[in-house]
Amino acid sequence: MPCQQARVLSPTGATRLAAVIGFPVRHSLSPVIHNAAFAAAGLDWVYVALEVPPGQAGAAVAALRGLDIAGLSVTMPHKDDAARAVDRCTAVASRLEAVNCVYRDGGLLVGDNTDGAGFVDGLRLDHHVDPSGMRCVVLGAGGGARSVVQALGEAGTADVAVLNRTRSKAEVAAALAGPVGRVGDMADVAAAELVVNATPIGMGGTAAPASLPFPATSLRTGQIVADLVVHPVRTALLIEAEARGAVPVDGLSMLVHQAAHGFRRWTDQEPPLDAMRAAVAHLRST
Ligand code: NAP
Repeated sequence: MPCQQARVLSPTGATRLAAVIGFPVRHSLSPVIHNAAFAAAGLDWVYVALEVPPGQAGAAVAALRGLDIAGLSVTMPHKDDAARAVDRCTAVASRLEAVNCVYRDGGLLVGDNTDGAGFVDGLRLDHHVDPSGMRCVVLGAGGGARSVVQALGEAGTADVAVLNRTRSKAEVAAALAGPVGRVGDMADVAAAELVVNATPIGMGGTAAPASLPFPATSLRTGQIVADLVVHPVRTALLIEAEARGAVPVDGLSMLVHQAAHGFRRWTDQEPPLDAMRAAVAHLRST
């Protein structure tokens, strides 16, 4: 473990607890990002990963009411169940019917979805890319894709084409972008200014062509090519995109910025973005 991640925790009776629930969850980078944030902000908080089996998200959220847990992140496969288990959802979580962040508002547990906002913040703050007016393609129609499609629709994009192997799911996802959303096809990829892979293709992958979600010949100079996959961070798609003159945007960017929204919700403080970025930056060279 690189030394910037090492932190000797000495929790006391005053220490506040935050956690992520998921299954599996031991690979999660969220504890590294959030504990770096708490340390940089000088907060006596600690963040842990809790492995919660499928179907148990409701019980985990109910436990939150009794335990003095200050903030909860929710990852696969619990995002839909968590949306049903909280007292109320924010507007974006209601639209997506999925929650990735639970915070307290008085006596109520509120479910939010910060994934899409995290994606757009990553483009703007890490890459100085404003998606407003852009023609976009999103590959996939699962939870990650839907949050990105919804956020791109809100960000004032000109066109959001959704490509998915199951067409009915592409239709549902495309509707989340509002009037600019539509179901697309592979021909849209080459014409797009922003291409987002929101499928797991490339996960744990090699640089083999099968690790690409579309033919590499669709990539071109100046395109922004984002991959939501974080294991590995430098996917075959991003390597190929960079080699062809496109701008690669990795999944760490979204991960850090969705976490930053959670930090803000839980602590009412501005997130220490540089510390959060630095906590995972070494993964870009692995
Ligand atoms: P999900 O809900 O399971 O959805 C996966 C989507 O990919 C579905 O639309 C599925 O198509 C499609 N797909 C799966 N395998 C495919 C294949 N072999 N060929 C073509 N399409 C395929 O997953 P998710 O939660 O959206 O996650 C997708 C990826 O994004 C994962 O790698 C996840 O780790 C990553 N992610 C990253 C972040 C971040 O912060 N960086 C946040 C969220 C997700 P069908 O509809 O036809 O099944």
